Amino acid sequence: MVDVLVCGLGPVGQLLALLLGDQGVRVLAIDRADDVYPLPRAAVVDDEVLRILQAVGLDGAVLADAQVQAGASVVTEDGRAVEVLAASVGRLGHPPLVSINQPAMERTLLRALADRPTVEVRRGVDLETIDRRADRVDVHVRPTSGGRGERLSARYLIGCDGGGSAVRARLQVPFVGRTAPQRWIVVDALVDRPLARVPHPHFVGRAARPTVTLPMSPGRHRWEWMLHPGEDPAPFLEPAAVRAALDEWLDGETVEVERAVVYTFHTRTAATWRRGRVLLAGDAAHVMPPFAGQGFSSGARDAANLSWKLAAVLGGAPEALLDSYETERRPHVEAMQRTANLMGGIVQATSPWVVRARDAWLHAIDGTRVQRFLAANVKPLPTYGAGAFSHPPHRLPPRRAVGTLFPQTGRLDDRLPRGWVAVTTDAVAASLFEAAGVAVADPGADGAWLHDRALTFALLRPDRFVFAAGRVADVGQAVAALRGVSAT
Ligand SMILES: Cc1cc2nc3c(=O)[nH]c(=O)nc-3n(C[C@H](O)[C@H](O)[C@H](O)COP(=O)(O)OP(=O)(O)OC[C@H]3O[C@@H](n4cnc5c(N)ncnc54)[C@H](O)[C@@H]3O)c2cc1C
Repeated sequence: MVDVLVCGLGPVGQLLALLLGDQGVRVLAIDRADDVYPLPRAAVVDDEVLRILQAVGLDGAVLADAQVQAGASVVTEDGRAVEVLAASVGRLGHPPLVSINQPAMERTLLRALADRPTVEVRRGVDLETIDRRADRVDVHVRPTSGGRGERLSARYLIGCDGGGSAVRARLQVPFVGRTAPQRWIVVDALVDRPLARVPHPHFVGRAARPTVTLPMSPGRHRWEWMLHPGEDPAPFLEPAAVRAALDEWLDGETVEVERAVVYTFHTRTAATWRRGRVLLAGDAAHVMPPFAGQGFSSGARDAANLSWKLAAVLGGAPEALLDSYETERRPHVEAMQRTANLMGGIVQATSPWVVRARDAWLHAIDGTRVQRFLAANVKPLPTYGAGAFSHPPHRLPPRRAVGTLFPQTGRLDDRLPRGWVAVTTDAVAASLFEAAGVAVADPGADGAWLHDRALTFALLRPDRFVFAAGRVADVGQAVAALRGVSAT
């Protein structure tokens, strides 16, 4: 029997297996596919994901095949590009908007998995049934090539098996939400160099044909065109029509179309993410339209959130810790879904008066403090309002210390020990934590974050969220709270 059975080796299952493997958890990861899904899906990841990739030593390898984007713009009907996302390196130590090629990223993660001695990967097996027991989960799997099935047992099963999750279906958990009426044609192409006319992602708000166009990993570019209700996609998918549609975006670059497909986007969330020893993560738990580039990114956050909690519970921490996974992640995912639908709504407008009003507003704010504020704050903050924290986080996200992702100037995380750590420059606080068996580290430049909040220490969880923060007198309370969620 393994500790954790990960069903589904898409990018979320891969990341979860890596994070669990690094904590010494015995993992069996299965997938029905023989290889990674070969066509591009996720086009961008953010700084939070790069920080999670840093935790498994892979941010450099992923960035080596990525393009850092300066921002994202909405283009008005009259062709004015107004920046709606500013992407300068901020408080997390990584660029906030980076274009990738999902299959290449997945191969990087899979190569790394081969080096994790406690992780076993099995491909070509399909999960069929789940039998939940008091002390374990038994699943029945069958080779996709046919033949005899077999029983696998694990203490926990994590469904990372995508939007059509078999795990979710076997648990009879509804996937609540809606499917957008709009259909989009997605065209991925190989390009000989970055397109001069599309230096970063553009949401082109043309009422006649809403369009999204963005650079992907080096040598790739994506276009998305909205189909109007009732429009037949077939003529748009003709190779000659696709080529002709690309022409206006080219300035001498050569393009080879890789694929053109029709997608319908969904905003759905599993009604519950945990049934006893079975949990859902990634697309199996939630899906959203791609307009904010947050589908995989949200799943990566799930993996970071869930992995340390599973490792802790397997090590003897109270099982209730696993409930904090959904408590923390669900509101954040729903905020991302709202952001994705907001971005989609902006570009998908086709009513003439809505387009005029949108463009008038964009023209009015362009270059003002309002635009700069929106561009810097469009994305929900990496912070949770409730969950596994020493005390409830502040109601207002920007005011939070406890419940927020600790900053990383430079590469702070590389200097921190794995697991729980108290960051402080105060000798008394440090000695109190050390006496309680808690690792201590100097936050370096990020000591400014403590100083600005008049704090002496922050006690960081293994996923680098602030569990507790305070002054010397608060150390005892922080350590006592830590005992409640950790086995140590
Ligand atoms: C057009 C498009 C654009 C996108 N753009 C972005 C973007 O810019 N940024 C972003 O972050 N995200 C984006 N996404 C979303 C992103 O691709 C997904 O969120 C991501 O792939 C989800 O990863 P996952 O591991 O949860 O699921 P998946 O990648 O779907 O992997 C699930 C795995 O489970 C396996 N599986 C399924 N059923 C079984 C079974 N019964 N037994 C065994 N194995 C099983 C499958 O073979 C598969 O390998 C986009 C998606 C699309 C379609």
